[in-house]
Amino acid sequence: SLSDRLGGVFDRLRGRGALTEADVRGAMREVRIALLEADVALPVARAFVDKVTEEAVGQNVLRSVTPGQQVVKIVNDALVEMLGSDSADLNLDVTPPAVVMMVGLQGSGKTTTTAKLSRLVKKRGKKVLMASLDVNRPAAQEQLAVLGTQIEVATLPIVAGQQPVDIARRAMQSAKLQGFDVVMLDTAGRLHVDQALMDEMKAVADISKPDEILLVVDSLTGQDAVNVATNFSQQVPLTGVVLTRMDGDARGGAALSMRAVTGKPIKFAGVGEKLDAIEPFHPKRVAGRILGMGDVVSLVERAAEAIQADDAEKMAARMAKGQFDMNDLRSQLAQMRRMGGLGALAGMIPGMKKAQAAMAASNMDERILLRMDAMIGSMTIKERAKPELLNAKRKIRVAKGSGTTVQDVNKLLKMHQEMATAMKRIKKMGGIKGLAAMLG
Ligand code: GDP
Ligand code: MG
Repeated sequence: SLSDRLGGVFDRLRGRGALTEADVRGAMREVRIALLEADVALPVARAFVDKVTEEAVGQNVLRSVTPGQQVVKIVNDALVEMLGSDSADLNLDVTPPAVVMMVGLQGSGKTTTTAKLSRLVKKRGKKVLMASLDVNRPAAQEQLAVLGTQIEVATLPIVAGQQPVDIARRAMQSAKLQGFDVVMLDTAGRLHVDQALMDEMKAVADISKPDEILLVVDSLTGQDAVNVATNFSQQVPLTGVVLTRMDGDARGGAALSMRAVTGKPIKFAGVGEKLDAIEPFHPKRVAGRILGMGDVVSLVERAAEAIQADDAEKMAARMAKGQFDMNDLRSQLAQMRRMGGLGALAGMIPGMKKAQAAMAASNMDERILLRMDAMIGSMTIKERAKPELLNAKRKIRVAKGSGTTVQDVNKLLKMHQEMATAMKRIKKMGGIKGLAAMLG
């Protein structure tokens, strides 16, 4: 399955020191397949992957937990960001009546969504009028009238033989005369986008001057969603999108396509046939759905927890000054333990190759990391800040205090020395920023 495949990539990445461009590209190949399987349109998937690759390779690997978790987090965050904010609501703060026009293909859920939104708006204390402009499908206007009765919202009386533009005009007049706060215009759809439909939309919009034009899209639409969105957004000034049938098997890829093509927020998600089955759109939830990983959120949370931003920032500031004492080494060791292996830091810094080799040669494992921590723990505050204070006598004291040997203490000091030298080199290269530029 999808999550297995993604999991596989991330397992391969796990435990390696640094997030290289090759790593990121490898993972992104799989992410692209995942997006396509989630029904994200091909050009959108491509653009997304390019953008995220660029971001990931340039990112501060210092803050990574494992490279795999970092990639998941980057992809997830980018998805959430692209899908938009949580707070996209209807814009009804206008001189009444506010006009909301629904557009979309036939069967996408316009009429149902018109009723669902009317119910929500009514609950906020607004006086709502619904009008069906669908003169193509037999009984379409009656369908809306029936829904109006169910939710106790007024519908514009049906006048046989009237054209959409005339119905819209009548709806506006009624709203003004009868003091409605909101007019909901439910338009006709077609099976496919065609010019007659578009001209009708434009004429209706001219008459009613909508404050919201919502494109209603079936989330099961798949690859074709992009064509629908492109056509509608080129011809009518959309203000938002409603995705219907999010209660089904939809993987949510249509959401990303819609957002990318229209540039407009996805405001609501339809989650069933019942008239209360509508929710604000939740980018985080949909991102998880697109990645096909139910546990993506918890994975990201775990990653975020382990990333101790404070530590990393303090460290970066010290590195910028070329400083690296025993306290810094100690927090590096702690980070290595969290990552269950050699540190990302050691791997990413060219000057650290020697230190890394020294660590590898000492066959460093969890036990050794703990022992090194104990040695630093046995040093005085002054010794930690100035390791050169450690003469033969002090070394014996530290070895005794930590249950190690003087030889072990010497190894630790040598490793610290290599790392401190590397830090100075970094400073010469222009600090962390210069390093990042070089790596990116
Ligand atoms: P329209 O042609 O765009 O007006 O589409 P309708 O509103 O008539 O809806 C077509 C069908 O889709 C109806 O059977 C609705 O009950 C169903 N439908 C609409 N929205 C949803 C949704 O969010 N979830 C599910 N499961 N069905 C929906
Ligand atoms: Mg309809």
